[in-house]
Amino acid sequence: MNTTTTLGCACGTTRIEVQGAPILVSECVCDSCRAAAERLAELPGARSVLTACGATPCAEYRKDRVRIVSGAEHLHEFRLSAAAGSRRVVATCCNTPVFLELKGAHWLSLYLHLWPPATRPAPQLRTMVGDLPDASALPDDIPNLKSHTVSFYAKLFAAWVAMGFRNPKIEVAGKIDA
Ligand SMILES: [Zn+2]
Ligand SMILES: [Zn+2]
Repeated sequence: MNTTTTLGCACGTTRIEVQGAPILVSECVCDSCRAAAERLAELPGARSVLTACGATPCAEYRKDRVRIVSGAEHLHEFRLSAAAGSRRVVATCCNTPVFLELKGAHWLSLYLHLWPPATRPAPQLRTMVGDLPDASALPDDIPNLKSHTVSFYAKLFAAWVAMGFRNPKIEVAGKIDA
């Protein structure tokens, strides 16, 4: 359980270590994730994080189990609007999206493309399919949930209990527009 996994941006400059297994692994198809992914994919040299069905795959990790090993000076936050509480953080060395941080959250949603394909965790469920105009086109390889389930929040809450209800602050170097 206490294994350390090293993740990296596309060019390898920004590296991140995560401890142990994620709280959960999911794909989100909400309007915000899709809009953000499309805008971030326009950055020079960027690659889209979206799957073929328009989902954003992420692994949720406790903030205290994520460590920036190198490239912290490249981490810049992107917000869908100036008033948006949630932010997506990009490694600007190669414009790789690194994680989503929801407002007030004690976890980070790390984009799965940071993992080498051989060790990439498999998504367990797809959330927020209620945001799609036509969810019937989604594959049924994993459960497609209309929103977030009670067990989804229960797992995140259990992680927060284990963290002693602390919420470490994640510093970034600046902001970007896309
Ligand atoms: Zn989403
Ligand atoms: Zn990079």
